[in-house]
Parts: sequence; structure tokens; C-alpha cells
Amino acid sequence: MPDNHATMDKIVSLAKRRGFVFPSSEIYGGLNSCWDYGPLGIELKKNIQDFWWREMTYRPNVVGLDASILMAPRVWEASGHVENFTDPLVDCRVCKARFREDELPPEKLEKRQCPNCGNLGSLTDARKFNLMFKTFMGPVEEDAAAIYLRPETAQGIYVNYLNVQTVSRLKVPFGIAQVGKAFRNEITPGNFIFRTREFEQMEMQFFVKPGEDERWFEYWAGQRMDFYRKLGIRSEKLRFKPHGPDELAHYAKAATDIQYEFPFGWSELEGVHNRTDFDLKRHQEYSGKSLLYFDDAANEKFLPYIIETSAGLNRTLLVVLLDAYWEDTEHERVVLRLHPRLAPVKAVICPLVKKDGLAEIAEKITADLQAHFPVLYDQQGSIGKRYYRQDEAGTPYGITVDYQTKEDGTVTLRDRDTLEQVRLPLTALAEEIERRLRVA
Ligand code: ATP
Repeated sequence: MPDNHATMDKIVSLAKRRGFVFPSSEIYGGLNSCWDYGPLGIELKKNIQDFWWREMTYRPNVVGLDASILMAPRVWEASGHVENFTDPLVDCRVCKARFREDELPPEKLEKRQCPNCGNLGSLTDARKFNLMFKTFMGPVEEDAAAIYLRPETAQGIYVNYLNVQTVSRLKVPFGIAQVGKAFRNEITPGNFIFRTREFEQMEMQFFVKPGEDERWFEYWAGQRMDFYRKLGIRSEKLRFKPHGPDELAHYAKAATDIQYEFPFGWSELEGVHNRTDFDLKRHQEYSGKSLLYFDDAANEKFLPYIIETSAGLNRTLLVVLLDAYWEDTEHERVVLRLHPRLAPVKAVICPLVKKDGLAEIAEKITADLQAHFPVLYDQQGSIGKRYYRQDEAGTPYGITVDYQTKEDGTVTLRDRDTLEQVRLPLTALAEEIERRLRVA
């Protein structure tokens, strides 16, 4: 498929224009790296999240959890985040710009040259900067009351795994899925919603018998790649990027990223990790509580190994927008070719004109269809303009009510991508759209 000419600037502008994503606190000049999701953005985000939830938990051995954002501070000592969740921060002594040392181009790093002002030898030595947001619990601002906003959702699953396993009567292998906010005080946030300080993760932690971990790691890596294809993302824009031995995180035995080719290059969309029994072992040690799993069939106790799939919800939304963007030069329109499953609004209903009772018929159709899926009524401007507005919003179907509707009870149904129009009776409309949504 040819390049769709999506640039970050075009996506940021479309997202604002159509109400997907707005800069946060905009009337106060905005807040760096913070974004708000508008009416279409929240629907799209919810549709991605729901699809993920269905794909991950509608299985016999995966259940859900919603753990608290604030957790006992010892959790983060046990997990290694207090000690290791740091980025190497360097400052430019001249222009005061800040960088992550590991993101500097090698030629700049060698000369300690600032990528911003170009001064040679102006970069300081790297300092370890912890990415966790610290705050205080209760009215006293002292170290004893210090608490962290969780930098990942995973730990909430680990500390609950025996609770969940017992009440759900699960046997290894089994998984626990969770979607929720995470916070990281990133040194270099940016690229719109790609890297922000507040974001949402969709994580599933899969508990397996040691020795079976490598097989399950391969299995979940494959499942997760399939997920993005099912979202409608072009295959040639997706790839695995396995971590080499020197790139592995302190807890991982094996890891692969799923990457997407963004306008700024190939970058991580999701991480799949074999975390071994690192986390459970540490929580056992720091809490003093046994986290051993009892396998009654084999009559043995062990600490399961964990395979983690960790995806960013906001980052996935960015990928969905970038990948769906299409400049249809033949018809001079911009289209968001969102998978119909993800489209925030499934159909727009337009009376050809407001008079002669056509508006009333269209309003009635809108109310009827609303019971099946989200739709929108639009009588503003020419039919062409109304459709082009919805093309940009990713609405897959358009329904026009015209004079013939009054005579024979039929309407036209327009397809966003092919522009094909068919005439069909009103009574068949909901069923036909539902059929198309199912097969898409
Ligand atoms: P990166 O190397 O991009 O900082 P990471 O390896 O630290 O990411 P993980 O800890 O594996 O990321 O997090 C899992 C997923 O959560 C990432 O693949 C990404 O989709 C999402 N994510 C992580 N950090 C951010 C962030 N600051 N903003 C938005 N999404 C994020």
C-alpha cells in the first residue's frame, strides 16, 4: 500500500479539529505533555480498550483486576523501581536544555555537544533521575508520608495474584488483565500522545510453571502481534524488535518489543517480557508473606514465572489515527479509514433538505438506530460537506433521506472508503449496518 502521507502535524491538527484530542488546560497556555480526550477521542479510546479486554479476557484462563494507583511504598522497593527506575539525565551548561543521555546521537555524546545549541563540551555528566512521581499521603509533608503514583500497573497484579487465583479457582497457567493509569516523570516527553507523563496501560500478566515460560512467551508475542492486525493496522508497519542480552531490563530473561513505524521512525508500541519469578520472589522477600502457588495435581509448591504483555492505550490510539489517515486526492478529501469496530460514530444520518418532512424522518431513523450503535444526525450544510466532515471523523456509513424515502420508504447507504451507495428499505437498515460491522 502506498504511503498515506500521515505526519505528526497533520494528526495533531485533525485530532484537535474533530475533537479527538485537545491540549490540556489550553486556556492557561497548556501543560507540557498533558492531553485531554474529546468526544470522539474518548469513544475511540474506549473502543480500543474494550477490544483489548475482549481479546485478552474472553478466554477460559484470564480474568480481570482493577488495582489502586496508590500502593504501599515498599512495593516499589521490592519491584526495584526505587533503585533502578531511572533515566540518565544530562544538562547543557549553556542553554540549560535537558536530555536523556541514552537518546543522544553517538557523535554528540562523544564530544559532549548539546543537540540544541551546538556548543561543544557543554553537556554535564549524567545524573540518575528517578521517573516515579512522589507525593504525600495525608496532611503531613514529610518523608514518612511519601508515596508514589504507580509507574506501571503490573505490580498491582503481582501483589494480588494469590487473592485472584484463590477466588477464581485458577490453575497455572492463568492470566490477570488490567487497564489503568500510570505516571512517569519522563525527561523528554513528546511526539503528541506518544510519550506523556500520565498515560494508560493495558497489561496482562500470565503465570506459568517454570520451564514452560519460553513456550508461553512465544505464544503471547504472537497473540499480541495479531491484536494489532485485527485493529486494522497495516502489517508492513509492524515488527518485532527482540531485546539483545545487554538491553534486557533487570527483571527480564527475554523480551521483545512490538514496534510501529511512526513518522519519526520505528518505536515501541508494546513490550512482551519473560519476567521469570523475579517479582514474586522480591515481594515474598519484602512482605515476608509466602507467595508460593500450590499445584494440587502434582502436590508441589512453586513460584510461577510471569510472562507480561504491556501495551500503551494512548500510544495505540496514536497508531490507530496515524495508520487510518488517508488523503484521497481523487476526491479531495481526508479520510480516517478506522476499522468500523473502532469508529466512534458508526453512521451519520442526513436529510437531503430540512423541509417537506425529510428532517423528521431522518430524526426518527437516528433515534431508532441509536438503540443499536452510536450514530449522529446532521442537517448542516451541503450533503457533500456533511459527508466529508464525517470522513475525517472516521464514520464508516452515511445515510441520506431524500424525496424517494417519502414515497417508498428507502434510503441510500454510503460507504466511507469505497464511496459506493446502495438503496435499501428503512426496515433493513439497522440489520445491514450491523452485518457490515460484524464482517469488517
Ligand atoms: P520506552 O522505552 O518507550 O520508554 P518502556 O520500555 O519504558 O518504553 P514499558 O515500561 O515496557 O515501556 O511500558 C509498556 C508500554 O507502555 C509501552 O510500550 C508504551 O506503549 C507505554 N508507555 C510507556 N511509557 C509511556 C509514556 N511515557 N507515555 C505513553 N505511553 C507509555
